[in-house]
Amino acid sequence: MQRDIYDEDHEAFRAVVKEFIRRYVTPEKRKQWDDDGQVDRETMLAAGEHGIIGLSVPEEFGGAGMLMDYRFRSVVNEELVRAGAGSSLAGAVGIQDDLAVPYIAHFGTDAQQQKWLPRMATGEILGALAMTEPGAGSDLRGVATTAKKVDGGYRVNGAKTFISSGRTADIIVTFVKTGEGNRPDAFSLILLEDGMEGFDHSKTLHKMGFQGHDTAELSFADVFVPEENLIGGVEGQGFVQLMKNLPLERLSIGAVAAALSQAALEWTLDYTSTRDAFGRPIGDFQNSRFRLADMATTVDVMWSYVDRAMRLYAQGELSADEAAKVKFWCTEREWEILDMGVQLHGGYGYITEYPIARAFLDARVHRIYGGTNEVMREIVARAVTGRK
Ligand SMILES: Cc1cc2nc3c(=O)[nH]c(=O)nc-3n(C[C@H](O)[C@H](O)[C@H](O)COP(=O)(O)OP(=O)(O)OC[C@H]3O[C@@H](n4cnc5c(N)ncnc54)[C@H](O)[C@@H]3O)c2cc1C
Repeated sequence: MQRDIYDEDHEAFRAVVKEFIRRYVTPEKRKQWDDDGQVDRETMLAAGEHGIIGLSVPEEFGGAGMLMDYRFRSVVNEELVRAGAGSSLAGAVGIQDDLAVPYIAHFGTDAQQQKWLPRMATGEILGALAMTEPGAGSDLRGVATTAKKVDGGYRVNGAKTFISSGRTADIIVTFVKTGEGNRPDAFSLILLEDGMEGFDHSKTLHKMGFQGHDTAELSFADVFVPEENLIGGVEGQGFVQLMKNLPLERLSIGAVAAALSQAALEWTLDYTSTRDAFGRPIGDFQNSRFRLADMATTVDVMWSYVDRAMRLYAQGELSADEAAKVKFWCTEREWEILDMGVQLHGGYGYITEYPIARAFLDARVHRIYGGTNEVMREIVARAVTGRK
């Protein structure tokens, strides 16, 4: 089904992304990212030069001003995923543009925006978002990392885990307790910077997928953070700030799920037309044809849904429950599509040299992070039943 969400500007930008991929996303680079468990800085800077990172940074700070328009970001996802960089560069760019920049662009003080956003637009400064802790993931009110007020700033103590880009990031938007109890106004977001005394973000976690993108544990041992690093400059706003940005994070996961499903369909169509069994291409068996028909139809429906959500987001009308629906529904369909793709590849579908195998491993986390799909269903159920 022809999508109607893009115009000539998006297609011109797609050509830029493709040219960037031709030059910078080579098989050697992808191998290097997998071996290193992270994307190198030169590539991130090149992404900045080509306008592939920094899309969500406002124009006055050197970005593309697309914070409320996800279409250009979706073009980046689609092309990077198709090029086999979904688990490396696409992840790194997504963390910067969808998770880190928005907190500073939406809620940062003028000084915070001026200090960080211009260099985030160029890829010189990389950001991350740290909410999850060893003892608290779905239930964020259970976080135990504290930021206690002291003269001129805060002393931060605690730990975070599973933080995407956590090792490579220069600045980390960190969810902390600045008050007592677990009321929403007991929490704040504060910027931790690489190099602060007592701040360790060097421990990398080993994952089943997303090999080319780092996921880290962070620890804070009496870290002094100056008060100018409190996002927005007012304590107690952290929960509200998270709630405002989480729909974007969930839309972005839905959009990546659609992009990966589309790529899986393309890889599977290609493979089944060239692999023979019993004297004919395996794609000619009725079972294969029906599976391909299922995949193609599901991909169309996913895009219709994601495109509609992108439109709502641009109008400022993508509610928490609508974003939760997009996140859980798209990632569940993605999982089915990738499983079909692996099956149609036979044994090669299990070999990580093949993009379908890697995509299968990468996609598993889409049902877990950004809020698990069970928690997404809870949010939706609350909205449809009106009961907690
Ligand atoms: C690769 C990766 C990258 C990540 N990146 C980041 C990041 O950049 N920043 C960040 O802050 N976090 C990140 N996370 C953390 C992720 O968001 C959490 O893992 C997720 O929110 C789940 O939290 P948890 O792991 O503590 O699981 P738990 O909350 O312990 O959940 C365990 C199980 O219980 C279920 N459950 C919990 N509560 C309910 C409920 N109310 N109803 C029904 N079922 C429930 C869950 O659905 C799940 O199945 C990342 C995780 C991974 C694996």
